[in-house]
Amino acid sequence: MKVMVLNAGSSSIKYQIFDMRDSSVLTSGLLEQIGEASSRLKYKWTNGEGKTKEAVEEGCVADHSEGLKLILDITLKLGVIHDLNELAGIGHRVVHGGEAFWKPTLIVDKVVDAVRGMIPLAPLHNPANLIGIEVSRQLCPAVPQVAVFDTAFHQTMPPHAYHYALPYNFYKELRVRRYGFHGTSHHYVAKQCAIYLGKPLSSCNLVTLHLGNGTSTAAIKDGESIDTSMGMTPLEGLVMGTRCGDLDPSIPFYLARSTGKSYDEIEKILNKESGLKGICGYNDMREVERLAAGGNAPAKLAIEMFCYRIKKYIGAYYAAIGSLDAIIFTGGIGENSNVIRKESCAGLQNLGIAIDEAKNHVRASKITDISASSSKIKVIIVPTNEELEIAQQTVECIKTSEAK
Ligand code: ADP
Repeated sequence: MKVMVLNAGSSSIKYQIFDMRDSSVLTSGLLEQIGEASSRLKYKWTNGEGKTKEAVEEGCVADHSEGLKLILDITLKLGVIHDLNELAGIGHRVVHGGEAFWKPTLIVDKVVDAVRGMIPLAPLHNPANLIGIEVSRQLCPAVPQVAVFDTAFHQTMPPHAYHYALPYNFYKELRVRRYGFHGTSHHYVAKQCAIYLGKPLSSCNLVTLHLGNGTSTAAIKDGESIDTSMGMTPLEGLVMGTRCGDLDPSIPFYLARSTGKSYDEIEKILNKESGLKGICGYNDMREVERLAAGGNAPAKLAIEMFCYRIKKYIGAYYAAIGSLDAIIFTGGIGENSNVIRKESCAGLQNLGIAIDEAKNHVRASKITDISASSSKIKVIIVPTNEELEIAQQTVECIKTSEAK
């Protein structure tokens, strides 16, 4: 059984095709700069002898429809599939599912309309996700398509966690509340951790830390998300590559008054010019670490702020959950940076959280337990795989809807 996963951005399409028998990736690629003369599709596939090959196609791809057609043509030419209907399903990453979507959903017209209705909540992401859905429904009308929402896993949050202390009608009329993101990743690593711990997910209490370019953490009690650091948008919470995370809500007003900048300009600064980049000029953690190791004071400060914010959330979520089985590090930084893991957990021995320095010295490509023997709570690196999770959820969703 072959399943395609599509992640459509405003000028890009990222894709993978899985063989679901063994979860292997048959082909993957990224088409960028759609609509420009410099469009570029970089793709990989496994040939008949099991070797991974790579190639690049360059030249103008006018729009997403042309882009997906190109991707499907190449996939057919490579023999990954011989007919579009050989795809058992296509799973679409959709950033915002609002309160309407708690789980992966088979795409029919009414789902497309509902995703369109979320555009005001995710103006940067949902329009592009929708284009991906529409184009692939046109090109593959007989293949079942499933929407997998970044927000869905967090829909189990109780009202006291998802409400903001604002006039209540802002929630009722304008849907202002915490939704949370990265749900596919938090869910995937939590399930992997449960397998590792040898317990059902429904009896696991976890703090998951997804640390990539965007960063977020989730409090998972009895296998369900009860709180998460990103909010109504992905701007709230931890320090990120270019996003500020938690902020006094008065600051944007003060900035508008004192700089004369518009709210749109300030929003852009908070999203694109803040976080690690705002503090030290770089958003790539490898570069920040390199500078800090060489004594660069802003880079050191950026790392201290990044880790301190994580530590505060670990403490807060430990209190919110009441007891913990494990803390999970994932994402490019969580999986690779021993410095960030060490600093984020430093001084937490009295909470029963301690890392073993030697075990922590890894760039983990598989589940790795880095807890000290004295640590009551396990600290575990779990590599994330959002695409595989989307593929698996796509299969489950199709099976469930066929059974109905
Ligand atoms: P995305 O959120 O775009 O999926 P990733 O999960 O790939 O991003 O994470 C990207 C981040 O991971 C970048 O800040 C990058 O510097 C960081 N990273 C990758 N490898 C390392 C490493 N060896 N040490 C520290 N940070 C790393």
